[in-house]
Formats: sequence, C-alpha cells, structure tokens
Amino acid sequence: RQDWLGRLKSGLTKTRSGLTSMFTGEKVDEAFFEEMEERLLLADCGLPATELLMQKVRDTVYQKSLTRPEDVRLVLRDAVFDLLRPLETSMGVDRARPLVMMVVGVNGAGKTTSIGKLANHYAEIGYSVLLAAGDTFRAAAREQLDVWAQRSNVDVISAEGSDPGAVAFDSVQAGMSRNKHIVICDTAGRLPTQLHLMEELKKIKKVLGKAKMDAPHEIVLVVDATNGQNALQQIKAFNDALTLTALVVTKLDGTAKGGILAAMSMSTRVPVAFIGVGEKLGDLRPFSPREFANALVG
Ligand code: GDP
Repeated sequence: RQDWLGRLKSGLTKTRSGLTSMFTGEKVDEAFFEEMEERLLLADCGLPATELLMQKVRDTVYQKSLTRPEDVRLVLRDAVFDLLRPLETSMGVDRARPLVMMVVGVNGAGKTTSIGKLANHYAEIGYSVLLAAGDTFRAAAREQLDVWAQRSNVDVISAEGSDPGAVAFDSVQAGMSRNKHIVICDTAGRLPTQLHLMEELKKIKKVLGKAKMDAPHEIVLVVDATNGQNALQQIKAFNDALTLTALVVTKLDGTAKGGILAAMSMSTRVPVAFIGVGEKLGDLRPFSPREFANALVG
C-alpha cells in the first residue's frame, strides 16, 4: 500500500509541489489566497471546483482565525477530500454471476492496459475472469489483450474478423456456461465525435442485455487524466450515450493535472472505481478519496 501511495504521490508531485510550496510561507493574506486559487486552476481543478474550494478554505480560515499557512494546508486537504467523496464507488462484483463489465474509451486512453490490470486485480483476489476481445477492428488490440490475459492466467474469447456484437454475445454465454465470476468486454476505441461508432457501442450494450437479461452490470469508461479538461467532455459524451456506471482514470503517475478529479466531482459525477498509476500489471488501485486528497495536498 505504501508503495503505490508513494508512486501516486510522486506521480502527482507536479500538482502537489505546485500546491504545497505555497504553504511554506509566513503569512495568510490576500496574496496567499490569490496564489492558492491560481495553483488550483493550474492543477486542472477547473473553475467551479476551484471557486468552491476557495470559498470553503476562506470561510474556515475566517471562522477559526487561522494565521499559519500550514494550518490552511490541512483545511484545503479536507476540503478536497469532501469534494472527492461523492466520486467513491466500489463495484459490487458479487451481485451477479457472471458480472458483465463493458469497457469503453477513446484510443490511447489506456483501455486495453486497464482491462489487463482489472483482470489481474480480480484474479488475484480469487475471482474467475473471462475477457472478451470486442475490439475486432484492430488485430493489435486482440494480441495485446491476449498477452495481458496470459500474464494473469485468464481466458479470452476472441473471433478474428467477427462482428463485435457477436463476440460480446458469445463471451457472456461462455461466461455463464463456464460459471465465471466476471466477464470483461473490451470494445473498439473511438473518438466521442465519431457518432456512428457511439451508436455501435449502444448496440453492443443491447446485445449484452440479450445474452443476459440484466447485463451489462457495469459500463466503465477509461479516461486519461493527462487530457485535463477534455476528459470532462469525453465523460459527458460517453455518459450521455451509454449511462456510465464508473470510470477508470489512467496516467495519474507523472501528471501535473491531478486536480481533474475535483473537476469531475463538479460535473458529471460519474464515480471513479480505479485509478491507473503506471504501465505495469499492479499499477491499478481502487480509488480512495482520502488517500487521493492526501497525495494531492499532503
Ligand atoms: P488503448 O488504446 O486505450 O487500449 O490504450 P493502451 O492500453 O494501449 O495504452 C496506451 C498507452 O498508455 C500505453 O503505452 C500504456 O502503457 C499507457 N498507459 C496506460 N495506462 C497507464 C497509466 O496508468 N500510467 C502510465 N504512465 N501509462 C499508462
């Protein structure tokens, strides 16, 4: 735990050093507040979250007559925690068998990597996982998924040149007949502006429901934190089309834009199930608002 928190912290160093270097000063005055506001914006918190955080910090500082920057840091940390709290979620994977998870995202967001990490995460804690190579357009995506699957020793359903809907349907059927706990269904990456592709995702969602009445149980968008404010637009577009249940936010290692989660809390509020903090199999962690706030401001 310490290890990944360390990695998240060092990843968020740019955001954090931007935020925390100001707390080493002597005075809490108007210039101090202005600097804090600027740094929150630079960390990609966005205007609504920044204004809310500033209001809370100012109110508390005034009420408690705080005069030391270090005390204000703790106030900001708690305010960030409060803001992130609504984003917390845990995917209750035991509520259906198999639990069917449909994973979507734009190309390059880290979708395939995250599916590999998810499979590994659930396999490690004792769940049987089946992967569906639903990105039938890119042979490379299928091969990449195979590599991840071998690493965590899970099965993959794939069909070269086949229709993605057919792969999705078959994988749920196979998940049922093999009595798996979880089926994770990959989909072709796309741009939110490619509306016809968005239509195709809707179709896959429907097909999953035909294979199993209550499926998909989770519709997860993988989104790249380094996209900053563009990430918000992606979340909105996918959420409007598919009604997302959760996000995986990737590439939080090495970004100066960790504040984007605060902005997410002010916009669509799709909860964050996991965060990606590196390229390796173990670099996926359940999202904890407390730990994230500490890593960001602590
Ligand atoms: P896809 O096109 O959405 O399937 O994206 P990929 O899974 O192929 O990932 C694109 C690139 O992002 C690869 O080089 C991954 O190693 C990298 N990547 C994915 N997740 C993370 C992460 O959490 N941190 C870092 N640093 N890189 C990541």
